[in-house]
Amino acid sequence: MSIPPTAEPGLVLVSGAAGFVGSHLCDALLRRGHRVLGLDNLSTGDRAHLAHLEQEPAFRFIEHDITEPPPAAAEGARRIFNLACPASPAWYQRRPIATLLASTAGTWQLLQLARRNAAPLLQVSTSEVYGDPQQHPQQESYWGHVNPIGMRACYDEGKRAAEALCFSCRQEWGLSIRVARLFNCYGPRLTPGDGRVVSNFIVQALRGEALTVYGDGRQTRSFCYVDDTVDGLLRLMDGEHPGPINIGNPDEHTVMALAQRVLALTGSDSALVRRPLPPDDPTRRRPDIDRAQRELGWAPRISLDEGLRHTIAYFEQCLGLPARAGRQ
Ligand code: UDP
Repeated sequence: MSIPPTAEPGLVLVSGAAGFVGSHLCDALLRRGHRVLGLDNLSTGDRAHLAHLEQEPAFRFIEHDITEPPPAAAEGARRIFNLACPASPAWYQRRPIATLLASTAGTWQLLQLARRNAAPLLQVSTSEVYGDPQQHPQQESYWGHVNPIGMRACYDEGKRAAEALCFSCRQEWGLSIRVARLFNCYGPRLTPGDGRVVSNFIVQALRGEALTVYGDGRQTRSFCYVDDTVDGLLRLMDGEHPGPINIGNPDEHTVMALAQRVLALTGSDSALVRRPLPPDDPTRRRPDIDRAQRELGWAPRISLDEGLRHTIAYFEQCLGLPARAGRQ
């Protein structure tokens, strides 16, 4: 189902291009021979993630906030990937209005662009639409259990509204849309100190600081390596299915187990320290990926250990630390 490299060199727009997933998606699209226009307002994105593309003639970056009308260069886009939204709970809880507007006003701008260009739009949504789920594992048919006025509402409800906007435009305009629900993506280019568990634990372990386990550490997440996530996004765009489709790794771990793996793989003797569980922190999360397997022929390939090794190597480099010995 995947389009072979260079089969369709039309312009692809990626919003959130300087972000963690967005920058990897730009790389993958360029490898496939597309021209890519990256947009990002750099609120949480980082130009450094795109520095290696500065001399790449098929890539152009424009600093732009998607809540504003798109720049003229975007009018030629043949496909649109919307990834623009802060994703770290610690960050988005400090900027809830901007977060909510990115998913609502921003998605609305891009949907109108998609309509003008008759271009399919892929909305990157999230497992957070399931909230603190009462169904386990989570299937796409589950409507979720979200606190609409809680600390996470700016992100969760923003993403839910974005999904509803996409499906409304499909219903009313016949727009071609796809919705992907990502589950805890991790890998190189996570921002050290942005508050997410994988980056926090690895940076703490490498610095010999205590790993901050929130609550009793028995809450679970299912971590998906970024290359697998990007592969899922490309397959979803290539196909016809509007989604929503879960893109995640069903291999579920407690936060405590993740801490232990990070300690083992870094060879660190850091201690663990308990911190209060943030409000509305989901207790369990694991994707049911039957739909992705059936409709996209997609399943993750990279194990947690392998993905953590790549991510640890990235953070060692980014923190200017020597590669550690003693990994298991
Ligand atoms: N977490 C933790 N220590 C940290 C950061 C996060 O124990 O330093 C926990 C957090 O409470 C949550 C899980 O790890 O249960 C995943 O948190 P993250 O912010 O990475 O993503 P979420 O899935 O909550 O959006």
